[in-house]
Amino acid sequence: MGIIGDVPRQAKVREGMSIDPPEIVETEADVVACEGNDAALGHPRVYLTVGKEGFVDCPYCDRRFVFRPGAVVAEH
Ligand SMILES: [Zn+2]
Repeated sequence: MGIIGDVPRQAKVREGMSIDPPEIVETEADVVACEGNDAALGHPRVYLTVGKEGFVDCPYCDRRFVFRPGAVVAEH
C-alpha cells in the first residue's frame, strides 16, 4: 500500500519560491467570522468587522473580506 497524500503547501512554496496572493472573500455582512480555509491556514475563529474602507484583512490567514454593498438591505 502506497501513501498518497497532499503535498504540503510549504513544499510547493519552497519549490516555486512564490506564494499565492491572499484570497479575497466577498461578504454580505459587515461582520464576518474567519477560521482559516484549510488545514495549513486554520486558526481559532475570529470575528472581523469591515471598516469604512469596505474590507478587512484577517490577521491570522491574511484573507481579505470585501464588503458587497449590493447585498445590503436599504438603510433607513
Ligand atoms: Zn482567517
